[in-house]
Amino acid sequence: MKAMVGGYDVTGMGRITPYQAALKWVLQNPKVTAAIPGMKDMAQLKEDITVMGMPFTYSDLRRLDHYDQAIAGFYCTFCGTCEVGCPHGVEISTVNRALMYAEGGYRNIKLARDTYAELPLQASAATCLDCEGCRARCVNGLDIASKMNHARTVIS
Ligand code: SF4
Ligand code: SF4
Repeated sequence: MKAMVGGYDVTGMGRITPYQAALKWVLQNPKVTAAIPGMKDMAQLKEDITVMGMPFTYSDLRRLDHYDQAIAGFYCTFCGTCEVGCPHGVEISTVNRALMYAEGGYRNIKLARDTYAELPLQASAATCLDCEGCRARCVNGLDIASKMNHARTVIS
């Protein structure tokens, strides 16, 4: 799951088309028997099928590096590590996952809202409004307070 690392729009990110590379990288692992990329239309289906059986190359690695740089600072890996640092029990990873549904390749605001709505109010990003200073720390360097603020704007 999440093989496309959010499937964010790469328009404006230069000459990178990382999704096929990501799929190849996942499937080269002998311990992986299946990937679950979300495919919304025939174009995406063709994009994925085209690389079945192809080896992962150095060029693919470069594409993934570029994509990694492009999404650094806002892509959450949903590890939950930061949540122990939040004294108010905000489910940061779930809020970020809902945000990804709204803004990543899913572009599915209903799924984003449904996911966000499953959170109790005290675990939602609304709780951050009463917080004087964010104490949660992201292992990937995300500005968590900013992400929670953004989630409130986009989803709720
Ligand atoms: S800003 Fe939000 S996530 Fe950060 S510590 Fe406060 S309540 Fe928790
Ligand atoms: S530590 Fe960072 S990557 Fe992990 S869940 Fe928290 S915000 Fe996401």
